[in-house]
Amino acid sequence: MKRIAILGSTGSIGTQALEVIAEHPSEFSVEVLTAQNQADLLITQALAWKPAHVVIGNEAKYAQVKEALAGTGIQVHAGAQALEEVVTLDSVDIVLTALVGYAGLLPTVKAIKASKPIALANKETLVVAGALIMPLAREMGVPILPVDSEHSAIFQCLMGESHNPIEKVILTASGGPFRGFSWEQLAQVTRAQALKHPNWSMGAKITIDSASLMNKGLEVIEAAWLFDVKPSEIEVVVHPQSIVHSLVQFEDGSIKAQVGLPDMKLPIQFALGYPNRMKASFPRFDFKLYPSLTFEQADTRTFRNLGLAFQALEQGGNKACLLNAANEVAVAAFLEDQIGFLAMSDLNDYVMNQGTFIANPTLEDYIESDKLSRIMAQDWVDKNRK
Ligand code: NAD
Ligand code: MG
Repeated sequence: MKRIAILGSTGSIGTQALEVIAEHPSEFSVEVLTAQNQADLLITQALAWKPAHVVIGNEAKYAQVKEALAGTGIQVHAGAQALEEVVTLDSVDIVLTALVGYAGLLPTVKAIKASKPIALANKETLVVAGALIMPLAREMGVPILPVDSEHSAIFQCLMGESHNPIEKVILTASGGPFRGFSWEQLAQVTRAQALKHPNWSMGAKITIDSASLMNKGLEVIEAAWLFDVKPSEIEVVVHPQSIVHSLVQFEDGSIKAQVGLPDMKLPIQFALGYPNRMKASFPRFDFKLYPSLTFEQADTRTFRNLGLAFQALEQGGNKACLLNAANEVAVAAFLEDQIGFLAMSDLNDYVMNQGTFIANPTLEDYIESDKLSRIMAQDWVDKNRK
């Protein structure tokens, strides 16, 4: 029985993880559930799953959660610091990082230091501080099991291949709702249009990132750290059907791919159940229903975020941390209709290239860079409001 801590249990990944756990009651149990703001859903989940601990990030909602769970024996905590503590509990066997953004970094560091395997959905942690996370995980002997579908695909393709060098990893991208759009068209797109992803139903931030190709940029950086590949060994190919989840090319030219319907429950289950493939009831892929799978070049001239991510990876140091923080501010401002779609890339470019560069950042440097980058980004938003 694996006892799981789900950080961000009320989100898209968190709720799907609970569906996976519900299908495998003899393999998994829920030890910790956490949420930032959705107190009502957290309470409902806690009453259904009876975890030992819950954390509500927003301290203003502590009393509500505490009262609703009184008499259940469930311990209730609040605030960001509590997240860093619950991941280290002896009773936790694996931590699923299903929270969004930079907030995942410090709890993940604490969990690794406490020797907890990580099922990593929170890609921002590796984007911000992959240079710190990966060596720490190796030092502690802790596996980082990717939940992101592309990285799960690559991870699966690499099973049994540890002695074979990778020539290239090929990340597939759906292209999002604005695939094929020109700059002129992108200048007009609305929040509502950007929130409609053709193939996946996800949280707001990653949905906007998918529309702007920032998500693929973040995934390029995530792949570089997870699989120890250089920027030149990572290719992005647009595959609108989202059936081929990603591929690996080896030195003999052979390419392996992992294929299936776009359903995050599969990579979530694979990470939680690793190294076992557990029986699952999700729908199967049927070739007859997909007579053509297509592939095309990604348009990095129009979708500048992808180019910026490659640039951050090439330059190293805290560049990707600067880019990530700017992007979190940019997406929030776009969602509040303060800036337009294209302005997100202008903002990312500005902060990444004007922020203070640190070649070999410590954890404290990343924390400081994130903070300063957000201030700089917010300032830019205030000056460039629509
Ligand atoms: P979401 O917005 O649906 O859920 C986010 C969860 O994190 C919620 O439970 C929320 O309460 C919590 N949270 C938000 N801000 C927080 C903070 N500051 N501190 C602590 N907790 C906080 O997001 P999601 O779509 O489930 O994505 C979660 C992560 O997984 C992201 O990093 C995303 O990039 C990654 N991911 C998601 C998908 C997907 O299909 N949704 C696929 C691949 C990767
Ligand atoms: Mg992905």
